[in-house]
Amino acid sequence: MSRPEPPKTLADWQALAAGLTLESRAFIDDTFVEAASGETFETLNPATGERLARVASCDSPDAELAIGHARAAFDGGVWSRLAPGRRKKVLLRLADLMEANKHELALLDTLDMGKPVNSSLGDMAGAIGCIRYQAECIDKLYGEVAPTGEEALALVLREPLGVVASIVPWNFPLMMTAWKIAPALAAGNSVILKPSEKSPLSALRLAQLAREAGIPRGVFQVLPGFGHTVGKALALSMQVDCLSFTGSTATGKQLMQYAGQSNLKRLYLECGGKSPNLVFADCKDLDRVAQHAAAAIFHNQGEVCIAGSRLLVENSIREVFVEKVLAAAEAMQPGDPLDPQSFMGAIVDATQHRRILDYIRQGVEEGARLRCGGEALEGQGLFIPPTVFDDVTPAMAIGREEVFGPVLAVFGFDSEEEAIAMANDSDYGLAAGLWSQDIDRIMRVTRRLASGQVFVNNWAGGDQTMPFGGVKQSGNGRDKSHHSLEEYSDLKSVWMSLAT
Ligand code: NAD
Repeated sequence: MSRPEPPKTLADWQALAAGLTLESRAFIDDTFVEAASGETFETLNPATGERLARVASCDSPDAELAIGHARAAFDGGVWSRLAPGRRKKVLLRLADLMEANKHELALLDTLDMGKPVNSSLGDMAGAIGCIRYQAECIDKLYGEVAPTGEEALALVLREPLGVVASIVPWNFPLMMTAWKIAPALAAGNSVILKPSEKSPLSALRLAQLAREAGIPRGVFQVLPGFGHTVGKALALSMQVDCLSFTGSTATGKQLMQYAGQSNLKRLYLECGGKSPNLVFADCKDLDRVAQHAAAAIFHNQGEVCIAGSRLLVENSIREVFVEKVLAAAEAMQPGDPLDPQSFMGAIVDATQHRRILDYIRQGVEEGARLRCGGEALEGQGLFIPPTVFDDVTPAMAIGREEVFGPVLAVFGFDSEEEAIAMANDSDYGLAAGLWSQDIDRIMRVTRRLASGQVFVNNWAGGDQTMPFGGVKQSGNGRDKSHHSLEEYSDLKSVWMSLAT
């Protein structure tokens, strides 16, 4: 049987959207069920305001049920004690199923949170690649024999943790999910996923695919619902061994308290950012750098943890360079998320839309110079155009706080020392970029940037082999690469005395 043609045009994507059947129930044990309370919440398409579905709104009883199944599956060993090579096969099957359904998965994220469909397709490649990478790693990691004397054989074994709850945000719904669940499942844990209440649909479709791939019952479950209900119940549970979180710093702080109030569960946090992008005057192709500097903030409507939201430009080129950024921004206007030509889409919901506009208003009031954008687009849907402020100072809210929208704050500097000090003057430390042709400067500055990731002459470069995460209030976890597998396993030291 021939495969249907992949969607290419706006009309193709609209036709695919019209034919979708949405799963809106929780996935507990091996079954799709309504929340115990029968409660639901609405999920809307932010580009049109249309309701997509009413989704099961889980709470403590659902969390308790799922945790019980996860624990039973873990203790039973159906997955936790399966040979790594066999877990690998199941996860590779899941990746293949995701690949076969990637257009539908991408479409669900686009409809749910407003990002352009081509960008969602890029996320699917990232999500599938992550599952394949972690699956391929797991049967290639060895334990250790410690270098002790002849009196003993000392082994260092790696064991799964138990029940892992993964709480994820809405800005890259399925990709963030894959970054969490792939290493946790590969390592042999039972995983309970709580997607964001703003983007639950792709996670529920993923649950269908996980079942089809043969992940045993209770090993992967999905609980849609709110943070203060089901999220909190998972975080406070005495039966959850690890909480892996991606989301805001404020929620991360709350989760640390919950871990302390309950069982000291292991906690990995991937939180917010206010990432500096440093442009030195010695760059040879300012047009190219300006293009990347604009994309660094306007990609995904600026709803990106590593958005290059603080642009630090050497004053000798600032005027010329900002003009080039403005020209690049002009070509990145938001459009219909289903149109493959759109670079930017809709803002996720009315709350976030209002928050971004409040920051813009505050920027003007605090004296920053608005160079473009600044007003919501009129008409249907939640759209904000690329917005650029120059003459920003570190004291202004748009210069310090995470806006999480298409708002760029431009600062000027006169020396390398001043650039480094400004870059590091932040509560966050998720990512930083630096553009220069001077290798000595590149190495000097890279070493001194307080950041989990540094992009040199690019923005957001990386692949599955590279850890992703931050320092300071951007969190303590690392997603991707084999380092993330270490987070989801424990070391067991075995000292075997030998007769001599
Ligand atoms: P958020 O903190 O509001 O929510 C994230 C998740 O936490 C959601 O699933 C939410 O329901 C849940 N949650 C909220 N309150 C909770 C509570 N009290 N107990 C348990 N769970 C709770 O963040 P958001 O608005 O969904 O996402 C945007 C944030 O995520 C930004 O700050 C962004 O920088 C960050 N982010 C970070 C990374 C990274 O890798 N560092 C990646 C993507 C997004």
